[in-house]
Amino acid sequence: MEITWEDGNRITYSAEQLRWACPCAECRGEMGAPGRLSRVKTLSPEELSIKDVTLVGQYALQIAFESGHATGIYTFPYLRALRS
Ligand SMILES: [Zn+2]
Repeated sequence: MEITWEDGNRITYSAEQLRWACPCAECRGEMGAPGRLSRVKTLSPEELSIKDVTLVGQYALQIAFESGHATGIYTFPYLRALRS
């Protein structure tokens, strides 16, 4: 996935990088409970390939993976910070 930012910076993200960075509660954990990504060391190929990307309002992208996991909402500041 590639994003061209307003300042002209073009950043390419791998599906694997995005999957491991999934910000959803299930992956990250919530209220002190560890998330799924802190409990596993590997993910299956279906989990690491992007099926669909949807724009959420003006502020974020929802990324759906082939595994069906689609609860991650990646805000643009979050995406930008991933690679800055
Ligand atoms: Zn997630």
